[in-house]
Amino acid sequence: MPVRGNWASTIDTDSRSMTEIKRQPYILSVVIPLYCEGSHLDATLNEIILVLDALGTSYELILVDDGSTDNTWQAITGQCKRLPDVKGIRLSRNFGKEAALAAGLEHAKGDAIVVMDGDLQHPPSLIPLMVNAWHEGADVVEAVKQFRGHESAYSKARSKVFYSLFSRLTGHDLRGASDFKLLDRRVLEAWRKMGERNLFFRGMTSWLGFKSTKITFDVADRVDGESGWSLLQLTRLAMTAVTAFSSAPLHLITLSGIGFAIFAFILGAQTLYHKLIGHAVDGFTTVILLLLIIGGVLMLGLGITGTYIARIYEEVKGRPRYIVAEQAG
Ligand code: UDP
Ligand code: MG
Repeated sequence: MPVRGNWASTIDTDSRSMTEIKRQPYILSVVIPLYCEGSHLDATLNEIILVLDALGTSYELILVDDGSTDNTWQAITGQCKRLPDVKGIRLSRNFGKEAALAAGLEHAKGDAIVVMDGDLQHPPSLIPLMVNAWHEGADVVEAVKQFRGHESAYSKARSKVFYSLFSRLTGHDLRGASDFKLLDRRVLEAWRKMGERNLFFRGMTSWLGFKSTKITFDVADRVDGESGWSLLQLTRLAMTAVTAFSSAPLHLITLSGIGFAIFAFILGAQTLYHKLIGHAVDGFTTVILLLLIIGGVLMLGLGITGTYIARIYEEVKGRPRYIVAEQAG
């Protein structure tokens, strides 16, 4: 694999067209979704910009305000006036982190695109390492959580259950995955072709494939403010993730249907046999139990089917993933 970015090295004649782009000076895009991060945005950006300046390459910083209710947008426009490399996008309301990320990614013009959180939980000092890995030929550089930060035991257990369920149902192992990633331009172009409205960035990049490398990092504590996710939002994201990447729950309904059919056949035959020899099954207990079990399973099946229909409905409507209200810089 030819070395990327090592401009002075000998030219690899076999894959000249590919390597030539990579040897030229590159532009780095850094996309940051922001929801109510106004209180510490300036400090956060200073830290990120320090790292980016040290890279010695041209870069653009794309800040997406996901309908914040605090002074995030004012902070962004302030930065845009101060620094020519900063661009701001304000969404018309809170569309959620995934949509905000998508907005940033769609506006990114760099040869490599870094996606990170705006609360310094993703250490900016990792960016040079990611760029190095990209130079060495990786198309996707994933920062993998080693230490998940000071999270509650409940929140840790929750994500553990989700990831083991997700990998079992979809075959994509996302344990430790974060939204702190570097993508090559080619990967971004491929990502843009995924037209779905129900976004799950981690799953989407895993689905895309390409040559990926992992770098481990320890999640720092949030600089300030609170995590912007409510339990309802997290549950919705988990549902989106599973339904967007797997139809296994639907097959589970079919499987349980087959199980019930076999059970029904055996019980039916036994009941008939007893009836014929003059010992009908007595009592309401059996009837009540059967009704309850069948009712429960049917409702569950309907619920799962309904969830998929809702997803189809959302996709079919074809609404934009987000609406941009304003841009700056
Ligand atoms: N975020 C966003 N929209 C939201 C919620 C969060 O753009 O509706 C941003 C937030 O500003 C931060 C990143 O997504 O930059 C990660 O959010 P947070 O720190 O709340 O999540 P956690 O670290 O708990 O996963
Ligand atoms: Mg965070």
